[in-house]
Amino acid sequence: MKRKKIPYGTKLPVKLTLRERDLISNETFCDPEYIKLAVVDGKGIKVDLSLDEIEDIQGYVAAEANHTEDLKLQKELDRLSDKLQVYLDTYDDQDYEQSDVFTQPIDPFSKDAKKRWDKIPKWAQTKILDNVYCGKCMNMVSIVLETAKIQGANLILRGKCKTCGHEVCRLVEPEND
Ligand SMILES: [Zn+2]
Repeated sequence: MKRKKIPYGTKLPVKLTLRERDLISNETFCDPEYIKLAVVDGKGIKVDLSLDEIEDIQGYVAAEANHTEDLKLQKELDRLSDKLQVYLDTYDDQDYEQSDVFTQPIDPFSKDAKKRWDKIPKWAQTKILDNVYCGKCMNMVSIVLETAKIQGANLILRGKCKTCGHEVCRLVEPEND
């Protein structure tokens, strides 16, 4: 399963039962600072944790599960460890910047496309790049340019919607000069 990329350090709302909170506070050497920030939510607690913090806690819980000789406690710790593991399997806050949706290649222009593009005044270039129709947003959006090629008489700009990552394309007709 591909993990969902999130910006580094994003806090995720983690729900724990009171028993799970006690397991973390009492049975592990985990820094209870995290848990102090928890708010009571129904029958349990809710605490906002980053993936690093979740990984930390999960490490302590798993280690304690390995060491304990109390089988019932071990089962509880294992279950808690699995529950925290789900967050680690679902999200990834490491390579967000490199995510292909948001990356802009260094030079998307072919040689002739570059020539044509350079003839367009800067203000008009910006206007073109910021006014591309996105079929998913159903609105004019900014394009994250991936390729720019001359096709027939037109300059074709292809890339992704800056807002949602959907494929977008913009045709620039030749100037009438
Ligand atoms: Zn879009």
